[in-house]
Amino acid sequence: MNAIDKLIKGHIDFRDGFYHENQAYLQELGCKGQSPKVAMITCCDSRVDPAIITTSKPGDLFVIRNVANLVPPYVEKTSSWHGTSAALQFAVCHLEVEHIIVLGHANCGGIRSLFASDGGTAEDSGFIGAWMRVIDEAREQILADPSLVTEEQQISACEQQSIQISLNNLKSFPWIQERVLKGQLELHGWFYNLVSGKLLKLNETEAAFQEIYD
Ligand SMILES: [Zn+2]
Repeated sequence: MNAIDKLIKGHIDFRDGFYHENQAYLQELGCKGQSPKVAMITCCDSRVDPAIITTSKPGDLFVIRNVANLVPPYVEKTSSWHGTSAALQFAVCHLEVEHIIVLGHANCGGIRSLFASDGGTAEDSGFIGAWMRVIDEAREQILADPSLVTEEQQISACEQQSIQISLNNLKSFPWIQERVLKGQLELHGWFYNLVSGKLLKLNETEAAFQEIYD
């Protein structure tokens, strides 16, 4: 079965299964509009599906996906196309979500590209190279850290450190900052290990990731 036939069969299974079993809920959701409490910024990586790993239903999560789950700063100097920022504005100012989660993950190809021999600056790195500049600061700090010896250690550190940078960048948006200060919006950093299936949460005070299960 080719990839498209597989999707069509999967859709038929969805119609006969999940849709049929949740028809009333899905129809009401479709007619009344969405009111998710949580916006989640995740990587495009096909192995990281936020709804599956949190057992969420349609309508629960406002998902913003991009390469390496990055949030650019409020003032983007190098781009005129603000896809992630526009989605954030919709989630925060129109849907009034109560939480934003930056969900990073292990074995991220986008982060790995930053540690290629050319530092991701080759001409053919194109859009990806330019986008990954959002976390240049993390890359530089990691390369200067003598405790991170191997490339794998550097990549792992960057996967987690980039989440803190994205949280800092979220706070640079005035309409996010205002809601956080009023206690209307909380920001969270999560990290998903796609091999063990475990989630970690960032403790910003201690600058460390901890088990999410306590
Ligand atoms: Zn990724």
